[in-house]
Amino acid sequence: MQIRENVSLKALNTFGLEAKARYFCVLRKLGGVRSIMQWAAQHPDLPVMFLGGGSNLLLVDDFPGLVVHVRLLQREVLGQDQDYVYVRGAAGENWHDFVRWTIEQGFAGLENLSLIPGTVGAAPMQNIGAYGVEAKDCIYEVQALDWRTGEIREFSQAECQFGYRDSYFKSVEPGRWLIVTVVFRLPRQPQWKMDYAGVREQLEGKTLNARVISDAIMNIRRSKLPDPVEIGNAGSFFKNPVVSPLQWANLQAQYPAIPGWTHGEGVKLSAGWLIDQCGWKGQRDGDAGTYDKHALVLVNHGNATGQQVWAFAQKIMASVQEKFGVGLEAEPNIIF
Ligand SMILES: Cc1cc2nc3c(=O)[nH]c(=O)nc-3n(C[C@H](O)[C@H](O)[C@H](O)COP(=O)(O)OP(=O)(O)OC[C@H]3O[C@@H](n4cnc5c(N)ncnc54)[C@H](O)[C@@H]3O)c2cc1C
Repeated sequence: MQIRENVSLKALNTFGLEAKARYFCVLRKLGGVRSIMQWAAQHPDLPVMFLGGGSNLLLVDDFPGLVVHVRLLQREVLGQDQDYVYVRGAAGENWHDFVRWTIEQGFAGLENLSLIPGTVGAAPMQNIGAYGVEAKDCIYEVQALDWRTGEIREFSQAECQFGYRDSYFKSVEPGRWLIVTVVFRLPRQPQWKMDYAGVREQLEGKTLNARVISDAIMNIRRSKLPDPVEIGNAGSFFKNPVVSPLQWANLQAQYPAIPGWTHGEGVKLSAGWLIDQCGWKGQRDGDAGTYDKHALVLVNHGNATGQQVWAFAQKIMASVQEKFGVGLEAEPNIIF
Protein backbone atom coordinates (compact mmCIF):
# COMPACT_ATOMS: atom_id res chain seq x y z
CA MET A 1 0.00 0.00 0.00
CA GLN A 2 1.43 3.32 -1.08
CA ILE A 3 0.26 6.59 0.39
CA ARG A 4 1.08 9.55 -1.82
CA GLU A 5 1.05 13.20 -0.85
CA ASN A 6 -0.60 16.21 -2.48
CA VAL A 7 -2.25 14.30 -5.29
CA SER A 8 -4.41 16.17 -7.82
CA LEU A 9 -8.01 14.96 -7.95
CA LYS A 10 -8.79 16.84 -11.17
CA ALA A 11 -9.00 13.69 -13.28
CA LEU A 12 -10.91 11.88 -10.53
CA ASN A 13 -13.96 14.14 -10.27
CA THR A 14 -16.42 14.61 -13.14
CA PHE A 15 -16.67 18.35 -12.52
CA GLY A 16 -13.00 18.43 -13.53
CA LEU A 17 -12.21 20.69 -10.58
CA GLU A 18 -8.66 21.17 -9.45
CA ALA A 19 -8.32 20.08 -5.83
CA LYS A 20 -5.59 18.17 -4.08
CA ALA A 21 -5.78 15.31 -1.62
CA ARG A 22 -3.28 15.84 1.20
CA TYR A 23 -2.84 12.05 1.23
CA PHE A 24 -4.07 9.55 -1.34
CA CYS A 25 -4.07 5.79 -1.83
CA VAL A 26 -5.73 3.22 -4.06
CA LEU A 27 -7.54 0.22 -2.59
CA ARG A 28 -7.36 -2.62 -5.10
CA LYS A 29 -7.62 -5.64 -2.77
CA LEU A 30 -9.66 -5.88 0.39
CA GLY A 31 -6.60 -7.34 2.13
CA GLY A 32 -4.89 -3.99 1.64
CA VAL A 33 -7.40 -2.21 3.81
CA ARG A 34 -5.69 -3.23 7.08
CA SER A 35 -2.52 -1.28 6.38
CA ILE A 36 -4.52 1.76 5.25
CA MET A 37 -6.53 1.61 8.47
CA GLN A 38 -3.35 1.31 10.51
CA TRP A 39 -1.94 4.37 8.78
CA ALA A 40 -5.20 6.26 9.40
CA ALA A 41 -5.13 5.24 13.09
CA GLN A 42 -1.67 6.80 13.36
CA HIS A 43 -3.11 10.03 11.94
CA PRO A 44 -6.34 10.31 13.93
CA ASP A 45 -6.85 14.00 13.21
CA LEU A 46 -7.04 13.52 9.45
CA PRO A 47 -10.44 13.04 7.83
CA VAL A 48 -10.84 10.07 5.47
CA MET A 49 -12.87 10.10 2.26
CA PHE A 50 -13.79 7.11 0.09
CA LEU A 51 -13.73 7.94 -3.59
CA GLY A 52 -15.37 6.01 -6.42
CA GLY A 53 -15.79 7.65 -9.82
CA GLY A 54 -16.00 11.17 -8.37
CA SER A 55 -19.31 11.81 -10.16
CA ASN A 56 -21.29 12.87 -7.13
CA LEU A 57 -18.86 15.27 -5.52
CA LEU A 58 -18.21 18.96 -5.45
CA LEU A 59 -14.66 19.53 -4.24
CA VAL A 60 -14.88 23.06 -2.89
CA ASP A 61 -11.33 23.02 -1.49
CA ASP A 62 -8.31 20.78 -1.26
CA PHE A 63 -9.07 17.73 0.88
CA PRO A 64 -7.02 17.98 4.07
CA GLY A 65 -6.98 14.25 4.87
CA LEU A 66 -6.66 10.82 3.24
CA VAL A 67 -8.58 9.94 0.07
CA VAL A 68 -9.05 6.19 -0.43
CA HIS A 69 -9.78 5.52 -4.10
CA VAL A 70 -11.85 2.33 -4.14
CA ARG A 71 -10.86 0.10 -7.07
CA LEU A 72 -12.06 -3.30 -5.84
CA LEU A 73 -13.09 -5.33 -8.89
CA GLN A 74 -15.23 -8.46 -9.22
CA ARG A 75 -18.48 -9.52 -10.87
CA GLU A 76 -20.17 -12.76 -10.05
CA VAL A 77 -23.43 -14.62 -10.63
CA LEU A 78 -24.26 -16.09 -7.23
CA GLY A 79 -27.24 -18.25 -8.14
CA GLN A 80 -30.96 -18.18 -8.58
CA ASP A 81 -34.23 -19.26 -7.03
CA GLN A 82 -37.66 -19.61 -8.58
CA ASP A 83 -38.19 -15.87 -8.98
CA TYR A 84 -34.81 -14.16 -8.90
CA VAL A 85 -31.20 -14.25 -10.02
CA TYR A 86 -28.56 -12.97 -7.59
CA VAL A 87 -25.45 -11.15 -8.82
CA ARG A 88 -22.66 -9.48 -6.92
CA GLY A 89 -20.45 -6.57 -7.91
CA ALA A 90 -17.42 -5.28 -6.06
CA ALA A 91 -17.45 -1.61 -5.08
CA GLY A 92 -14.91 -0.40 -7.64
CA GLU A 93 -16.70 -1.82 -10.68
CA ASN A 94 -17.85 0.81 -13.15
CA TRP A 95 -21.64 1.06 -12.71
CA HIS A 96 -22.64 1.19 -16.37
CA ASP A 97 -20.27 -1.63 -17.35
CA PHE A 98 -21.77 -3.69 -14.54
CA VAL A 99 -25.31 -2.98 -15.75
CA ARG A 100 -24.39 -4.00 -19.30
CA TRP A 101 -22.66 -7.13 -17.98
CA THR A 102 -25.87 -8.21 -16.20
CA ILE A 103 -27.75 -7.67 -19.47
CA GLU A 104 -25.18 -9.73 -21.38
CA GLN A 105 -25.76 -12.54 -18.87
CA GLY A 106 -29.43 -12.43 -19.89
CA PHE A 107 -30.65 -10.67 -16.74
CA ALA A 108 -32.99 -7.70 -16.44
CA GLY A 109 -33.75 -5.16 -13.73
CA LEU A 110 -30.97 -2.58 -13.96
CA GLU A 111 -31.53 -1.46 -17.57
CA ASN A 112 -33.23 1.84 -16.66
CA LEU A 113 -30.14 2.78 -14.66
CA SER A 114 -27.86 2.51 -17.69
CA LEU A 115 -25.20 5.15 -18.26
CA ILE A 116 -25.27 6.60 -14.76
CA PRO A 117 -21.62 7.43 -14.10
CA GLY A 118 -19.76 6.10 -11.08
CA THR A 119 -19.19 2.84 -9.33
CA VAL A 120 -21.19 -0.08 -7.94
CA GLY A 121 -20.06 0.82 -4.40
CA ALA A 122 -21.48 4.32 -4.60
CA ALA A 123 -24.85 3.21 -6.00
CA PRO A 124 -26.35 2.41 -2.58
CA MET A 125 -24.90 5.58 -1.04
CA GLN A 126 -27.51 7.86 -2.55
CA ASN A 127 -29.77 5.10 -3.87
CA ILE A 128 -29.19 6.14 -7.47
CA GLY A 129 -32.28 6.43 -9.58
CA ALA A 130 -33.42 7.25 -13.10
CA TYR A 131 -36.37 6.66 -15.42
CA GLY A 132 -38.69 5.30 -12.75
CA VAL A 133 -36.23 2.86 -11.14
CA GLU A 134 -34.03 3.17 -8.08
CA ALA A 135 -31.07 1.00 -7.08
CA LYS A 136 -33.03 -0.07 -3.98
CA ASP A 137 -35.54 -1.88 -6.22
CA CYS A 138 -32.87 -4.47 -7.00
CA ILE A 139 -30.43 -4.28 -4.09
CA TYR A 140 -30.61 -7.40 -1.92
CA GLU A 141 -27.63 -6.88 0.38
CA VAL A 142 -24.73 -4.50 0.90
CA GLN A 143 -21.47 -5.69 2.40
CA ALA A 144 -19.59 -2.90 4.16
CA LEU A 145 -16.49 -2.55 6.30
CA ASP A 146 -16.72 -0.60 9.53
CA TRP A 147 -13.91 1.97 9.32
CA ARG A 148 -13.87 2.18 13.14
CA THR A 149 -13.30 -1.51 13.83
CA GLY A 150 -12.41 -3.17 10.52
CA GLU A 151 -15.32 -5.58 10.89
CA ILE A 152 -17.32 -6.56 7.83
CA ARG A 153 -21.09 -6.43 8.11
CA GLU A 154 -23.90 -7.40 5.76
CA PHE A 155 -26.77 -4.93 5.52
CA SER A 156 -30.11 -6.25 4.29
CA GLN A 157 -32.09 -4.03 1.92
CA ALA A 158 -34.27 -2.85 4.82
CA GLU A 159 -31.24 -2.05 6.99
CA CYS A 160 -29.89 0.23 4.27
CA GLN A 161 -32.86 2.57 4.99
CA PHE A 162 -33.07 3.71 1.39
CA GLY A 163 -34.94 6.89 0.59
CA TYR A 164 -35.04 9.38 -2.26
CA ARG A 165 -31.31 9.86 -3.06
CA ASP A 166 -30.59 8.72 0.46
CA SER A 167 -29.47 5.78 2.57
CA TYR A 168 -28.22 4.80 5.98
CA PHE A 169 -24.65 5.10 4.69
CA LYS A 170 -25.20 8.63 3.44
CA SER A 171 -27.26 10.17 6.23
CA VAL A 172 -27.19 8.13 9.41
CA GLU A 173 -23.50 7.23 9.64
CA PRO A 174 -21.68 9.11 6.88
CA GLY A 175 -18.05 8.13 6.46
CA ARG A 176 -18.22 5.12 8.80
CA TRP A 177 -18.88 2.37 6.26
CA LEU A 178 -16.69 1.44 3.33
CA ILE A 179 -18.99 -0.37 0.92
CA VAL A 180 -17.18 -3.45 -0.35
CA THR A 181 -19.70 -5.38 -2.45
CA VAL A 182 -23.35 -5.11 -3.44
CA VAL A 183 -25.65 -8.06 -4.15
CA PHE A 184 -28.50 -7.43 -6.58
CA ARG A 185 -31.66 -9.52 -6.84
CA LEU A 186 -32.91 -9.43 -10.42
CA PRO A 187 -36.39 -10.69 -11.37
CA ARG A 188 -36.57 -13.68 -13.73
CA GLN A 189 -39.88 -12.34 -15.05
CA PRO A 190 -39.02 -8.69 -15.65
CA GLN A 191 -41.59 -5.94 -15.77
CA TRP A 192 -40.43 -3.17 -18.07
CA LYS A 193 -40.69 0.38 -16.74
CA MET A 194 -41.40 2.66 -19.67
CA ASP A 195 -43.70 5.36 -18.30
CA TYR A 196 -40.99 7.95 -17.87
CA ALA A 197 -40.59 10.89 -20.22
CA GLY A 198 -39.63 9.82 -23.71
CA VAL A 199 -38.92 6.14 -22.98
CA ARG A 200 -42.03 4.65 -24.60
CA GLU A 201 -41.52 6.78 -27.73
CA GLN A 202 -37.95 5.52 -28.11
CA LEU A 203 -39.19 1.93 -27.89
CA GLU A 204 -42.04 2.14 -30.35
CA GLY A 205 -42.09 -0.81 -32.77
CA LYS A 206 -39.23 -2.61 -31.01
CA THR A 207 -39.27 -6.03 -29.41
CA LEU A 208 -38.73 -5.36 -25.74
CA ASN A 209 -35.83 -6.78 -23.83
CA ALA A 210 -33.34 -5.40 -21.32
CA ARG A 211 -30.75 -4.54 -23.96
CA VAL A 212 -33.21 -2.61 -26.14
CA ILE A 213 -34.43 -0.64 -23.13
CA SER A 214 -30.88 0.03 -21.96
CA ASP A 215 -29.99 1.32 -25.47
CA ALA A 216 -33.06 3.58 -25.46
CA ILE A 217 -32.20 5.00 -22.04
CA MET A 218 -28.63 5.63 -23.22
CA ASN A 219 -29.94 7.53 -26.26
CA ILE A 220 -32.23 9.69 -24.16
CA ARG A 221 -29.54 10.43 -21.58
CA ARG A 222 -26.99 11.35 -24.25
CA SER A 223 -29.45 13.82 -25.78
CA LYS A 224 -30.23 15.49 -22.46
CA LEU A 225 -27.21 15.38 -20.20
CA PRO A 226 -23.74 16.76 -20.78
CA ASP A 227 -20.96 14.20 -21.08
CA PRO A 228 -18.49 14.94 -18.26
CA VAL A 229 -15.64 14.19 -20.66
CA GLU A 230 -16.69 17.24 -22.68
CA ILE A 231 -18.11 19.51 -20.00
CA GLY A 232 -17.54 19.04 -16.28
CA ASN A 233 -20.65 18.29 -14.19
CA ALA A 234 -22.07 16.01 -11.52
CA GLY A 235 -25.48 15.34 -13.08
CA SER A 236 -28.49 16.84 -11.31
CA PHE A 237 -27.12 19.27 -8.80
CA PHE A 238 -30.25 19.65 -6.65
CA LYS A 239 -32.72 17.16 -5.25
CA ASN A 240 -36.34 17.64 -6.18
CA PRO A 241 -37.79 19.35 -3.09
CA VAL A 242 -40.81 17.91 -1.27
CA VAL A 243 -43.37 20.38 0.11
CA SER A 244 -46.44 20.03 2.32
CA PRO A 245 -49.92 19.74 0.71
CA LEU A 246 -50.70 23.24 2.03
CA GLN A 247 -47.61 24.80 0.44
CA TRP A 248 -48.39 22.89 -2.75
CA ALA A 249 -51.91 24.34 -2.85
CA ASN A 250 -50.52 27.86 -2.37
CA LEU A 251 -47.90 27.37 -5.06
CA GLN A 252 -50.48 25.96 -7.48
CA ALA A 253 -52.75 28.96 -6.89
CA GLN A 254 -49.88 31.31 -7.74
CA TYR A 255 -48.24 29.23 -10.50
CA PRO A 256 -50.89 27.04 -12.18
CA ALA A 257 -48.33 25.39 -14.48
CA ILE A 258 -46.09 24.19 -11.65
CA PRO A 259 -45.44 20.44 -11.94
CA GLY A 260 -45.70 18.23 -8.85
CA TRP A 261 -46.08 14.56 -7.90
CA THR A 262 -47.45 12.97 -4.75
CA HIS A 263 -44.55 11.82 -2.61
CA GLY A 264 -45.48 10.18 0.70
CA GLU A 265 -47.41 12.74 2.72
CA GLY A 266 -46.18 15.63 0.58
CA VAL A 267 -45.71 16.73 -3.00
CA LYS A 268 -42.43 16.51 -4.91
CA LEU A 269 -41.61 19.49 -7.11
CA SER A 270 -39.32 19.67 -10.11
CA ALA A 271 -36.15 21.47 -9.02
CA GLY A 272 -35.29 21.96 -12.71
CA TRP A 273 -38.59 23.76 -13.35
CA LEU A 274 -38.17 26.05 -10.34
CA ILE A 275 -34.62 26.97 -11.39
CA ASP A 276 -35.70 27.49 -14.98
CA GLN A 277 -38.49 29.84 -13.86
CA CYS A 278 -35.89 31.92 -12.04
CA GLY A 279 -34.11 32.39 -15.37
CA TRP A 280 -31.00 30.33 -14.62
CA LYS A 281 -30.97 27.98 -17.61
CA GLY A 282 -27.76 28.48 -19.59
CA GLN A 283 -26.55 31.27 -17.29
CA ARG A 284 -22.92 31.46 -16.24
CA ASP A 285 -20.72 33.35 -13.89
CA GLY A 286 -17.18 33.00 -15.19
CA ASP A 287 -16.73 29.29 -15.88
CA ALA A 288 -19.43 28.15 -13.43
CA GLY A 289 -22.89 27.85 -14.93
CA THR A 290 -26.00 25.83 -15.65
CA TYR A 291 -26.23 23.55 -18.69
CA ASP A 292 -28.11 25.25 -21.51
CA LYS A 293 -30.38 22.22 -22.09
CA HIS A 294 -31.03 21.44 -18.42
CA ALA A 295 -31.11 24.04 -15.65
CA LEU A 296 -30.71 21.38 -12.96
CA VAL A 297 -27.21 20.50 -14.11
CA LEU A 298 -24.41 22.78 -12.96
CA VAL A 299 -21.37 22.77 -15.19
CA ASN A 300 -17.74 23.75 -15.20
CA HIS A 301 -17.10 25.42 -18.55
CA GLY A 302 -13.37 24.89 -18.17
CA ASN A 303 -11.51 26.56 -15.38
CA ALA A 304 -14.08 27.12 -12.64
CA THR A 305 -12.94 26.47 -9.10
CA GLY A 306 -14.99 24.46 -6.64
CA GLN A 307 -15.63 27.65 -4.69
CA GLN A 308 -17.03 29.35 -7.79
CA VAL A 309 -19.37 26.45 -8.55
CA TRP A 310 -20.53 26.38 -4.94
CA ALA A 311 -21.07 30.17 -4.88
CA PHE A 312 -23.10 29.87 -8.11
CA ALA A 313 -25.17 27.05 -6.60
CA GLN A 314 -25.90 29.18 -3.56
CA LYS A 315 -27.15 32.04 -5.73
CA ILE A 316 -29.58 29.64 -7.40
CA MET A 317 -30.76 28.34 -4.03
CA ALA A 318 -31.32 31.90 -2.78
CA SER A 319 -33.33 32.93 -5.83
CA VAL A 320 -35.58 29.83 -5.72
CA GLN A 321 -36.12 30.45 -2.01
CA GLU A 322 -37.02 34.08 -2.69
CA LYS A 323 -39.39 33.45 -5.61
CA PHE A 324 -41.12 30.26 -4.44
CA GLY A 325 -40.32 30.02 -0.73
CA VAL A 326 -38.83 26.57 -1.41
CA GLY A 327 -35.43 25.43 -0.12
CA LEU A 328 -33.22 23.44 -2.47
CA GLU A 329 -30.76 20.83 -1.23
CA ALA A 330 -27.60 19.87 -3.12
CA GLU A 331 -27.56 16.27 -4.34
CA PRO A 332 -23.78 15.79 -4.67
CA ASN A 333 -21.58 15.57 -1.61
CA ILE A 334 -20.10 18.99 -0.96
CA ILE A 335 -16.53 18.50 0.23
CA PHE A 336 -14.98 21.49 2.02
C1 LIG B 1 -23.64 13.15 -16.17
C2 LIG B 1 -24.10 12.60 -14.84
C3 LIG B 1 -25.35 12.01 -14.75
C4 LIG B 1 -25.82 11.49 -13.54
N1 LIG B 1 -27.05 10.92 -13.50
C5 LIG B 1 -27.51 10.39 -12.36
C6 LIG B 1 -28.80 9.78 -12.31
O1 LIG B 1 -29.50 9.68 -13.31
N2 LIG B 1 -29.22 9.30 -11.13
C7 LIG B 1 -28.47 9.36 -10.00
O2 LIG B 1 -28.93 8.88 -8.96
N3 LIG B 1 -27.24 9.91 -10.01
C8 LIG B 1 -26.74 10.43 -11.15
N4 LIG B 1 -25.51 11.02 -11.18
C9 LIG B 1 -24.71 11.08 -9.94
C10 LIG B 1 -23.66 9.95 -9.79
O3 LIG B 1 -23.39 9.36 -11.02
C11 LIG B 1 -24.11 8.88 -8.81
O4 LIG B 1 -24.41 9.44 -7.56
C12 LIG B 1 -23.03 7.79 -8.62
O5 LIG B 1 -23.55 6.72 -7.87
C13 LIG B 1 -21.77 8.29 -7.95
O6 LIG B 1 -20.81 7.28 -8.04
P1 LIG B 1 -19.26 7.57 -7.85
O7 LIG B 1 -18.56 6.26 -7.81
O8 LIG B 1 -18.80 8.52 -8.85
O9 LIG B 1 -19.27 8.21 -6.40
P2 LIG B 1 -18.30 9.34 -5.84
O10 LIG B 1 -18.66 10.64 -6.43
O11 LIG B 1 -16.88 8.92 -5.93
O12 LIG B 1 -18.74 9.34 -4.32
C14 LIG B 1 -20.03 9.73 -3.96
C15 LIG B 1 -20.21 9.50 -2.45
O13 LIG B 1 -20.15 8.10 -2.19
C16 LIG B 1 -19.07 7.81 -1.31
N5 LIG B 1 -18.50 6.54 -1.76
C17 LIG B 1 -18.04 6.24 -3.00
N6 LIG B 1 -17.66 4.96 -3.03
C18 LIG B 1 -17.87 4.45 -1.79
C19 LIG B 1 -17.67 3.18 -1.19
N7 LIG B 1 -17.18 2.12 -1.86
N8 LIG B 1 -17.99 3.03 0.12
C20 LIG B 1 -18.48 4.07 0.83
N9 LIG B 1 -18.69 5.29 0.32
C21 LIG B 1 -18.39 5.47 -0.97
C22 LIG B 1 -18.12 8.98 -1.42
O14 LIG B 1 -17.34 9.15 -0.25
C23 LIG B 1 -19.08 10.13 -1.62
O15 LIG B 1 -19.63 10.50 -0.39
C24 LIG B 1 -25.01 11.55 -12.37
C25 LIG B 1 -23.73 12.13 -12.47
C26 LIG B 1 -23.28 12.65 -13.69
C27 LIG B 1 -21.91 13.23 -13.77
